[in-house]
Amino acid sequence: MPPDQPDVATDPVPIIDVVDLHKRFGQHTVLDGVSLSARTGDVISLIGASGSGKSTLLRCLNMLEVPNRGSVRIAGEEIALKTNRKGEPIPADDRQVDRIRTRLGMVFQNFNLWPHMTVLENLIEVPVRVLRQSRAEATEHAESLLEKVGLANKRHSYPSFLSGGQQQRVAIARALATRPSVMLFDEPTSALDPELVGEVLKVIRNLAQEGCTMVLVTHEMAFARDVSSQVMFLHQGRIEEAGPPEQIFVSPNSERCRQFVTAQH
Ligand code: ADP
Ligand code: MG
Repeated sequence: MPPDQPDVATDPVPIIDVVDLHKRFGQHTVLDGVSLSARTGDVISLIGASGSGKSTLLRCLNMLEVPNRGSVRIAGEEIALKTNRKGEPIPADDRQVDRIRTRLGMVFQNFNLWPHMTVLENLIEVPVRVLRQSRAEATEHAESLLEKVGLANKRHSYPSFLSGGQQQRVAIARALATRPSVMLFDEPTSALDPELVGEVLKVIRNLAQEGCTMVLVTHEMAFARDVSSQVMFLHQGRIEEAGPPEQIFVSPNSERCRQFVTAQH
């Protein structure tokens, strides 16, 4: 079940089009002119040392962080920004941001499930409350997504009764529940015990094989090499090198990139 996907041939507008993004926290420049574009079916992996700006870049796509400069377009629609009285950037139209967030399914390192809701309730919350789907419709879709991530039998469990791997698979299903155009993953396996990593990577790999468009921050280099159409190496808030996985992992142009990928083995 790939999320709603236009035909590539008739899809001239990138789903994600980021141009010259800058983000500062106080005096600290964290993104220093990053551009990125994703088309239907692309799987883009962001790699780089801790602190290089990978999470900030991902979070700027759905305005969990608001860039100081540059533009973010989702499916051709530019997210409107303004500055508040303190001179900080904020979205100009909260409803636009809400709408765009339903097009981008986000999966965090620490699952972030709602602990007081069952698995099924976690999945139908946004479809029912934000997208105004009927409970029956949202439940039917949620059950098919739980089937897909191998957790149909856990629908009435609370998150705290699930393993980390199961919680993360629920989080992926929840992100898919709004039928997003793109899935965003921020180190989805970093918080997991090693024996639980595989079950989560398998779900992500299946999505990639179905043609799901995704941007993935990961330290799993073998996985990134395997599933990505493009890999971007960030260094100090800039794209130091970007290219197909063979380039980045086998013969990068940048010495820094070479050192980084070599050190990960
Ligand atoms: P990565 O995901 O590549 O490890 P991040 O995007 O999380 O990097 O962080 C990049 C830099 O920005 C780090 O130095 C981090 O400490 C800083 N940073 C991230 N978020 C904030 C924040 N909300 N406030 C202040 N500094 C932040
Ligand atoms: Mg991060």
